[in-house]
Amino acid sequence: MAFEMAPLPYAFGALEPYIDARTMEIHHDKHHGTYVANLNTALANHPDLQSKSIEDLIKNLSTVPEAIRTAVRNNGGGHLNHSRFWLQLVPGGSQPSGALLDALNSTFGSLANFQEQFNKAGLGRFGSGWAWLVVDGSGKLAITSTANQDNPLSDGLKPLLGVDVWEHAYYLNYQNRRADYLKAIWNVINWADVVKQFAAASR
Ligand code: MN
Repeated sequence: MAFEMAPLPYAFGALEPYIDARTMEIHHDKHHGTYVANLNTALANHPDLQSKSIEDLIKNLSTVPEAIRTAVRNNGGGHLNHSRFWLQLVPGGSQPSGALLDALNSTFGSLANFQEQFNKAGLGRFGSGWAWLVVDGSGKLAITSTANQDNPLSDGLKPLLGVDVWEHAYYLNYQNRRADYLKAIWNVINWADVVKQFAAASR
C-alpha cells in the first residue's frame, strides 16, 4: 500500500476534557483510516502517483488524471489534513512563541484577536471543512477556510495550522456546538509544530 496512516502519537483520551477519547478513536481509526483506504484504492493502477508525497499530490491536483482527481482531492486531502491535525494537537496544550508570536501580534493585533478571527472562519464555514492559518503568496499570515477536505496547498498557500470543523471532529462531546469546540481546542494546540511550519514556510 502506498499511503499509510501513522498511529496517533498520544492516547485517545489524552486530550480530555477538550476532546473525548471516543471521538478521537473514531476520528483517527475510522474516518482517517477510510480516507487512506479510499486514496489507495483510487491510486491502485497509478504506481507513478503512489510514489509521490501526499503534499505533492495535493499541491498538483491538476496533474492527477481526471478520472481519479476527485477521489484524490477528497481522500488524499483527508489523509494529508488529518496526518497534520494529529500532530498539531498535544496533551496539556502550549503557547506560541518567537517569530510566529511576533507575526501573529503584528498581523492580528493580539493572540486573542487571532483566535477570535480564526474561530469566526471555522464557524462561518458552512457544513464541513477546515479553518486555517496560512502564509499567503506575499509571505503574510492570513486566516482562511476550506470546504470538505480541501487543503490550502491546492491554492498555492502554505498551511501552518488547520482545525477540522467537520461534525465528526466534535459531535460526541459538543453535539451541534461547534463554537464551544473551537473555543476549547486552543487548550490542546501544539504550537511547537505550528512554529516549525512557519519556519519552513518562511524559508
Ligand atoms: Mn476529520
